[in-house]
Amino acid sequence: MRKNIAAGNWKMNTDLSFGQDFVKKINDFELPSDVTVIIGVPFLSIAGLVPVSGKISIAAQNCHQEESGAYTGEISASMLKSVDCKYVILGHSERRQYFSETDELILAKMHKVMEHGMKVIYCCGEPLHVREKEEQAVFVENQLKDSICKLTKEQMENVIIAYEPIWAIGTGKTASPDQAQSMHKHIRGILLNTFGENTAAETSILYGGSVKPANAKEIFSKADVDGGLVGGASLKPDSFLDIIQSF
Ligand code: PEP
Repeated sequence: MRKNIAAGNWKMNTDLSFGQDFVKKINDFELPSDVTVIIGVPFLSIAGLVPVSGKISIAAQNCHQEESGAYTGEISASMLKSVDCKYVILGHSERRQYFSETDELILAKMHKVMEHGMKVIYCCGEPLHVREKEEQAVFVENQLKDSICKLTKEQMENVIIAYEPIWAIGTGKTASPDQAQSMHKHIRGILLNTFGENTAAETSILYGGSVKPANAKEIFSKADVDGGLVGGASLKPDSFLDIIQSF
């Protein structure tokens, strides 16, 4: 059975002491046992949070595709593994937009992350002008074809997909539950055609884009939505807790 997942993405916000207080607050609650809770934190906080993160798994928000070398300012997958980081978010639209990440590059990063035994949260999703032309299905299909569809079935066991329509990220605009369901069903269909029934049934597909306590329940209730990747609302323990309890 695929997992229900509530994943936060703190982006370039928060410091270590914020993170320590946050994970303590979340861990003080009895969390539902059927929900995997993950938070993508800034690189500098990972080593400090992993030992105290309790029921929460810690994710990085990026990593470099090479093993090591002269890449000033970069962080490698082996560095993340060495501090027991469990997940890496890859292909977030902000990385695609501001750092020119292509699906080819994201694929190379995915290989590296999995070589080191970590799991990937792979983000895809269309910009507004594509949605306005109603070309989102083809757009996302092309993203998947150039990235995760080139993985093996075995590698797919370590991939979570996050569908994040760019027009809904940080804008307060959310895709309607039906829009989310329709894209998630489409993505599951691509997984079915590429990898077969097992991968399609077992891969968790998260929705991301202005998820908050007020809309999480309805979005998560859709058949092909297995949870959320949450930016803004994951920065407040109370609202993230509400989202964790929305399945
Ligand atoms: C995100 O950063 O992945 C995201 C979905 O942000 P927000 O929830 O703030 O729209």
